[in-house]
Amino acid sequence: MTDRKDELAGNLAKVEERIAAACAAAGRKREEVTLIVVTKTYPASDVRMLSELGVRHVAENKDQDAAPKAAECSDLPLTWHFVGQLQTNKVRSVVGYADLVQSVDRSKVVTVLSKEAVRAEREVGCLIQVALDAGVTGRGERGGVGPGGIEELADLVADAPGLRLDGLMTVAPLTGEYAGREQAAFERLMDLSTDLRRAHPAANMVSAGMSADLEQAVAAGATHVRVGTSVLGVRPRLG
Ligand SMILES: *Cc1c(COP(=O)(O)O)cnc(C)c1O
Repeated sequence: MTDRKDELAGNLAKVEERIAAACAAAGRKREEVTLIVVTKTYPASDVRMLSELGVRHVAENKDQDAAPKAAECSDLPLTWHFVGQLQTNKVRSVVGYADLVQSVDRSKVVTVLSKEAVRAEREVGCLIQVALDAGVTGRGERGGVGPGGIEELADLVADAPGLRLDGLMTVAPLTGEYAGREQAAFERLMDLSTDLRRAHPAANMVSAGMSADLEQAVAAGATHVRVGTSVLGVRPRLG
């Protein structure tokens, strides 16, 4: 193996150990949690090595970086997640490679995603991004809709051609009542997921937890963790 592939394999093994330990501590089966590796700012060559090492889910947050990378990796058996704030003028490009968009947080995005998914003859899975620092009806600094906005957006996605409502996503807030209380934040997201599933039983994905707080997310019941830094290293630039 190359040095880089060795490094990625070692990091992956450590993350795998953390997830397994967190599942055991929470009395959950390891299969209940899916690892999504966030490859933003890292090259397509890393994505290829991760695929060779058994990774099946990758995530990106900027279309300009993601589109060429996904094109270079289109031969790999990967599911691509888009997790960044989505401008409507990027939706056509994103729909070209993203199997899931985890950052759905306004009705305009739903409308455009639906239109482009139908046009591309693709089905795009959608997660509503919840901002737990936004107040009930506000919006988050880094995207996301307050808890009071989930139902309306979820109904809109569920009724939109080309889209599939898959669940909820959050990023632990840095401000507000949940600042520094990651597990409480993720437990709140789980409660919101329970509410959502009353109307939309199939929307059972709960995407929460990153390198620093994946244990808290697994403890709270997350089905998907999104890990970048702990697998690929500290990012060379903001992303
Ligand atoms: C970058 C990013 C991650 C991964 O964060 P790390 O701290 O590098 O693990 C997860 N989710 C989203 C939405 C991100 O933008």
